[in-house]
Amino acid sequence: MSLSLIAKSIKASPTLKLNEKFAILKEKGDPVIHLGGGEPKSKAPMDAMLAAVALLNSGEVRYAPADGIPALKQAIIRYTEEYYERKVKPEHVIASSGAKQAIMVALQAVLNPQEEVIFPAPYWVSYPDMAKLIGAIPVPALPEDGTFYPRFKDIEDRVGSYTKCVIINSPNNPTGAMYSEEFIADVVEFCEKKDIWLIMDDIYHRLIFDGRKPINCYNYTKKKDENSKLIVINGVSKQYAMTGYRIGWAVGNKKVIEAMSNIQGHQTSGPSVVLQKAAVGALNGIQSGVESLRVTLENNRNIMIDLLNSFEGVKVKKPDGTFYCFADFSAYEKDSNKLSAFLIDKVQVLTVPGKEFGLDGYLRLSYCGGIKDIQEGIERMKWALDPNSPNELYIGDRKLVRDWS
Ligand code: PMP
Repeated sequence: MSLSLIAKSIKASPTLKLNEKFAILKEKGDPVIHLGGGEPKSKAPMDAMLAAVALLNSGEVRYAPADGIPALKQAIIRYTEEYYERKVKPEHVIASSGAKQAIMVALQAVLNPQEEVIFPAPYWVSYPDMAKLIGAIPVPALPEDGTFYPRFKDIEDRVGSYTKCVIINSPNNPTGAMYSEEFIADVVEFCEKKDIWLIMDDIYHRLIFDGRKPINCYNYTKKKDENSKLIVINGVSKQYAMTGYRIGWAVGNKKVIEAMSNIQGHQTSGPSVVLQKAAVGALNGIQSGVESLRVTLENNRNIMIDLLNSFEGVKVKKPDGTFYCFADFSAYEKDSNKLSAFLIDKVQVLTVPGKEFGLDGYLRLSYCGGIKDIQEGIERMKWALDPNSPNELYIGDRKLVRDWS
């Protein structure tokens, strides 16, 4: 079929595909456990729900400005002041359909075909395909020291004449690693010096553990608003458990935000006004839900890490934030696609293969679900992988028998 070259170069989002698989197995009545998910299970804040319902009840749900309604822009401005101590104006802000669209339109606004975008590996699954959607070249930077913490040199070494943009996501999906303040400072200063766009994907910046404080990239910029090539991404999906509302945003200089708004205006005419109202409710309403989610995630992380440490063949580092851990299962199987498929097939546990994030031999496991699912999911995995396991395992009244070695 004569599809475009770009269409042929793009693959389906592996994480969204996994969600579909989960829904199908669940529908069939299979006792499946989803450890591959990327969304908190808590409810959206009441203030968000009430704000959306109030607009729906008014019956007046219309087009809105492509770059976001004024009330949402104001809430984002306040957020930026509170968490980044940066005073910005409405023309520095765009609201999009999720942080995903905010990143996509930012890349469309700054990259030309064949130009390069660098990001540390392991990376969020969408960055390479987003670059390819523009005909640009993704350049993953795997830390040379084998850790999940890139050093400045890992980025610097990959910068060349085609480099137009760097994306930093910390704390990181999939590893949960929060990069050091020194690294962030070096990258901000370097990109300014080299006149390279820097996208800070801060979608998990408040979901951090062990007393850590969010890092503020603006502390290291010397450029004023209109000259700064720093674009900060955030959203309500993760911290407010509002993944289905699809509201994210970007803060950047006036020219880039205007370009992003023009692009978005032709793509979607902006995010739904109902959902923007919900985001305003979340950002301006009672905030206790964010902290209680953070505490729950920290506890879940501890449980998951303890369980994983009991595997003989698993190597895992304690994540600093997010709701993912990225564990090395290569002692059992080096091909993470194979391993992930084996776990679904044998014990109905869904995990995301590390290969999708740029590092084979690993699996991404999420601890954003309930404790029972974490415990049972990891126990099933252990039963499947450990050759010393008993021959049988019961899932409810289903008996599983090990017919592999
Ligand atoms: N960046 C990262 C690193 C993510 O993990 C995600 C969601 N999985 C996004 C951006 C997109 O967030 P949203 O759901 O708001 O589009």
